[in-house]
Amino acid sequence: MKINYRGRLEKLRERLKPAEIDALIISEPHNIFYLSGCSGGFTGAKVRLIVDAGKSTLVIDHRYFDEALEVAVADRIIGWKTPSFSEVVNVVKDYGAVRVGFESAHVTVKQYERMVKEFDGIQLVGIPGLAEPIREIKDNYEIQKIGEAAAIGDAAFEHIIKYIKPGVSERELAIEIEFFMRRRGAEKASFDTIIASGSHSAVPHATPSAKKVGVGDFVKLDFGAVVGGYHSDMTRTVVVGRASQKHREIYAKVKEAQEAALGAVAPGKIGKELDNIARDIISDAGYGKNFVHNLGHGVGLNVHESPILSVDSETELKKGMVVTVEPGIYISGFGGVRIEDLVVVTETGHRVLTHSTKDLLEL
Ligand code: ZN
Ligand code: ZN
Repeated sequence: MKINYRGRLEKLRERLKPAEIDALIISEPHNIFYLSGCSGGFTGAKVRLIVDAGKSTLVIDHRYFDEALEVAVADRIIGWKTPSFSEVVNVVKDYGAVRVGFESAHVTVKQYERMVKEFDGIQLVGIPGLAEPIREIKDNYEIQKIGEAAAIGDAAFEHIIKYIKPGVSERELAIEIEFFMRRRGAEKASFDTIIASGSHSAVPHATPSAKKVGVGDFVKLDFGAVVGGYHSDMTRTVVVGRASQKHREIYAKVKEAQEAALGAVAPGKIGKELDNIARDIISDAGYGKNFVHNLGHGVGLNVHESPILSVDSETELKKGMVVTVEPGIYISGFGGVRIEDLVVVTETGHRVLTHSTKDLLEL
């Protein structure tokens, strides 16, 4: 499948005029990758994409220059040898741009001060985000890649349940998941895999420790894979040994809330409506204060990106958005449950990209 960089650039260009700028300097690596196919290795290497109404120019650290020539889609590619903005200034002057936007959310104060000095005579305009709203709507290529990443996640879950038993450490389980995903073709894990057992699982974003899994523990597994730069994200929670009444009660509520919110995902739905569906079910069961985070978030070139599904989210879901639905209940000293699926908004409703079982597994 060919990636439609031209189409993406056109969408960005439509936003230049309303923002009252002649050109935009893009510095956020995922935005550059989205618009040109080249990221500078996502290393924060010096790479800028300068876009005006008709042209795009990539200025890139010379260490990535050959790679850029091979993969980047841009009208011009310039190697960047000196640690200054002079090449970028030259491009902007070549364009004849007077008012030039930059990504204020991704430029440090130090960089800004240097820009002000070097862009002498050019009006700099800080813009919070022009590319991010475009990235919210995924095209077919992106949905395919996210689906491939989600499939690796499902396979990793099926693989890891064989390893979850008393005595294995959280860290060993995290390593096994990440090793499995990479063997299956993932470029890397979406984020540091979360494995949290027993009372540790009450921490929503726990770091895997040397703690060993014990009988009667909830084990919460939150992980994902990266394919073609695109992320997946899923969470499942299992019990080691027989589930108690309390395990079952908490798990059933999270599952009910998760399935209700997931089932409601459709174009036109507002972020807070979906959050409320899950939160009401959990609150009615008396666990409202134990659901301590948002319902979900967008997933794409970043594992967390807009839109956010939260109590105050006014975002309207649109066809092509890919979001997580991940309610949880966390009880200090006992443990926590989260169930997270990845879902794409379709013309008429949604398609779930995570296929692992949500039945409570007793391992
Ligand atoms: Zn997650
Ligand atoms: Zn998530």
